[in-house]
Amino acid sequence: MTEPAIDTSPKTWDEVKTTTCYMCACRCGIKVYLKDGTVTYIEGNRDHPVNKGVICGKGAAGIMQHNSPARLSQPLIRVGPRGSGEFREIEWEEALRTATLWLSEVRNNDPRKLAFFTGRDQSQGLTGWWATQFGTPNYAAHGGFCSVNMAAAGLYTFGGSFWEFGEPDWKHTKYFLLFGVAEDHASNPIKAGLGKLKARGAKFVSINPVRTGYSAIADEWVGIRPGTDGLFVGALIHELLAAQKIDAEYLLRYTNAPWLVIENAGGGDDGLFARNAQGSPLVSDAHSAGPMPALSPDAEPKLMGRFKLADGRRVVTSFQLLAERYLDPQWTPEAVADRCGVPAATIRRIAAELARAAFEEQIELDIPWTDHLGRAHEKTIGRPVAMHAMRGISAHANGFQTCRAIHLLQIMLGSIDVPGGFRYKPPFPKAPPPGVKPAGKPGQIKPNTPMPGPPLGFVTAPEDLLVDGEGTPQRIDKAYSWEAPFAAHGLMHMVIANAARKDPYGIDVLFMYMANMSWNSAMNVPDTIKQLTAKDEASGDYVIPRIIYSDAYASEMVHYADLILPDTTYLERWDCISLLDRPISEADGPADSIRQPVVEPDRDVRPFQSVLLDLGARLGLPGMTRNDGSPRYPGGYADYIVNHERAPGIGPLAGFRGPNGQAIGRGTPNPDQLKHYAENGCHWFHELPDRMKYYRHVNWAYLDWATFFGFIPRPEPIIHQLYCEPLQKFRLAARGHGKVLAPATHRDRIEKHFDPIPFWYPPLEGEMVEAGQFPMHAVTQRPMAMYHSWGSQNAWLRQILGRNWLYMARSRAKELGIEDGDWVIVTSHHGRIRCQARLMDGVNPDTAWTWNAIGKRSGAWALSADAPEAKKGFLLNHLISELLPEREGGYRYSNSDPITGQAAWYDLRVRIEKAVDQEQGSLPQFSTLKKLAVAK
Ligand code: SF4
Repeated sequence: MTEPAIDTSPKTWDEVKTTTCYMCACRCGIKVYLKDGTVTYIEGNRDHPVNKGVICGKGAAGIMQHNSPARLSQPLIRVGPRGSGEFREIEWEEALRTATLWLSEVRNNDPRKLAFFTGRDQSQGLTGWWATQFGTPNYAAHGGFCSVNMAAAGLYTFGGSFWEFGEPDWKHTKYFLLFGVAEDHASNPIKAGLGKLKARGAKFVSINPVRTGYSAIADEWVGIRPGTDGLFVGALIHELLAAQKIDAEYLLRYTNAPWLVIENAGGGDDGLFARNAQGSPLVSDAHSAGPMPALSPDAEPKLMGRFKLADGRRVVTSFQLLAERYLDPQWTPEAVADRCGVPAATIRRIAAELARAAFEEQIELDIPWTDHLGRAHEKTIGRPVAMHAMRGISAHANGFQTCRAIHLLQIMLGSIDVPGGFRYKPPFPKAPPPGVKPAGKPGQIKPNTPMPGPPLGFVTAPEDLLVDGEGTPQRIDKAYSWEAPFAAHGLMHMVIANAARKDPYGIDVLFMYMANMSWNSAMNVPDTIKQLTAKDEASGDYVIPRIIYSDAYASEMVHYADLILPDTTYLERWDCISLLDRPISEADGPADSIRQPVVEPDRDVRPFQSVLLDLGARLGLPGMTRNDGSPRYPGGYADYIVNHERAPGIGPLAGFRGPNGQAIGRGTPNPDQLKHYAENGCHWFHELPDRMKYYRHVNWAYLDWATFFGFIPRPEPIIHQLYCEPLQKFRLAARGHGKVLAPATHRDRIEKHFDPIPFWYPPLEGEMVEAGQFPMHAVTQRPMAMYHSWGSQNAWLRQILGRNWLYMARSRAKELGIEDGDWVIVTSHHGRIRCQARLMDGVNPDTAWTWNAIGKRSGAWALSADAPEAKKGFLLNHLISELLPEREGGYRYSNSDPITGQAAWYDLRVRIEKAVDQEQGSLPQFSTLKKLAVAK
């Protein structure tokens, strides 16, 4: 009998196109397989620098994101009340004319009355520039509620940071500490990196209250209590100092450890660096026994000591101050162990292991290099200890100082940008902090006029704040005010609440992109919905009069907008991952990439970035129009990507520049640039020569090259700032010194938190609530299979996680009489929810946790009204207030880090009780959202 001819492997494609994944923020290269113009399969691109062919479940499921039933299909204008879901479908011309009318009224009168905030989009180079051209300071992306603590702490300390700014040296590290990272930031690169560590037998220690994701494969899991990482790290520093296991040479040469700090209690210069007449910071030179400029090639600085300068000023090295702090008995492992939930012996052992890896397993690479003072180094010395941290550190009100402490630990071990340590990714390092200041001071906002600079930047003194003479914030989110002076990414979580309270002023238009602010991106969801729908009693108008929103999907936020501009999916547009924005560089060299449309939209949708450029041209924004008033980028975002120049020869993409595409970094716009990228797998990577791969903060050849590339303005050394003088300047303002003084109400808060040497303080919410009433911590983690709220509407990913549970320790559950699967009531100082508990062992006993953003509002995202995401899924957001409890005088600060304004999501304290009636279903439930017109 003959076997029937069965084709067991039919060809499911007739075309393959490369592009960049957008199922999370890693931006892996992908190959999209198409048959008859329909996407049939997605796989990783083996030639791509980020993922080298690896694809995760999310990335492979991108096909279902592209085909999602929740895709918006046409511009919409609201016809019923906000939240009713009553919209009228309109043509793009009407949508764009309406938006232009609303926006031009604002720009003609008071541009700051536009609040333009974007979510986890990847085009902040464009959106920030657009806001500058419009003339509003009220712009930021989602960084303020994600990880600005992490970014700012690094940028103020050593001109780099974790995540997109750098990575562990996976090839050489022998000891890896991972703080507060579940399965996010970054995804495939960390997985691949951990694989390399495991293959080499390097030790991987995860410090995290929950043993999921990467922690599950750690060689050692340290189940720390949330918000106490700074104590743990401080005890490690104590141990290393006590054992004198520090890299003194690294500290002396490349950090401000030997710089002299003025000791003048009560004086206006107390705590500032002693400088010479030229402004150079001074060190005490061992050779001459006198002061010398810190960067003098002849100086032989002392690391420790107190001295008296010829002018009578008393000074001390910053390292002396640091050592005095951390050698204090309050930092011994025994002193912190109970609060951290980590045994003293464990802390002591980890400190010893760090010291052994750093100093007894030193790496020497045969790579000669020359430092900033012209000293030739025959070899490149490495301290093979690497660290990485993200939201578990960042999302606490003490996150900035905790992250600074982690950097202090790295620097004391001499492990920044060395073989085996943390490595910068170009365009980093930059000056600590980078030189750009935020614009938006009184007088810088004028009708019909661009701002003189970008809305986001780095303040270094009270004079840089965006406040008026009385100290009143100038931005709607109060970024760069006395509430959050170092708010490098803004405070997106405060925009709607402040606008609704008209504090510090009301706005006319709220314009948002990809930010689900009426649901999982909001603290205090019920009140946010009230704020979005609040009306002015006298006029009957909404307090936030107009809301424009752009998204590809029918998220919860769409229902609260007045005008919807439907975006494409990531497979339907041009995009760029730019070195001007948040790049995909590798430690070995700069990289950027593009997205190209692999399919045409089958709906009446347009890429948001092109729409933004169109609106800019209609509004006559200078950068987006030519002298004759015609659009500067008539070809939309692709046109902008190729032809926009931020500085002569420097544009969004660094590769294939110049007339024939041969130039890199700097070169005239090349009309064929996108074609070159597409032919190159949609990416570009330039590997640096070996002599420029390490010690880049002080590597002369690299600094010179980075200046040509436009990464830094001048080839100057980037000296690590263990002692952060800008913080001290704020303290002095709180003590009544300087031209711009802190208002009396903020002085104690500034004095306490703006310590120039990293320290630890308890998370603010925990200090303000009754500990006995709310004994547990509650945090979220991101699951391996999903990213933000996008994943839990994806038909394939929903099959992995269709709902979430509240996980808690078996031991604590037993004490509370809670069994696996019980419904529980979780109460905070702000709210109450009901959800279902699951019990586990790998969690700190004082901590409960759940997956982030799985819970959906009934009716949203085109899911059925009784979808498990809505009926059993839940959010902790309902328990979190955007404001801290009231202080004396009635003032309520935002629930944020007092230094950066980072949203303190993980400071949440709760009480958990078994639900008496064991009725099923999550609470609270909100009314079912009406189904919107979505893709057919
Ligand atoms: S890690 Fe992120 S970017 Fe990479 S394939 Fe997965 S979802 Fe896509």
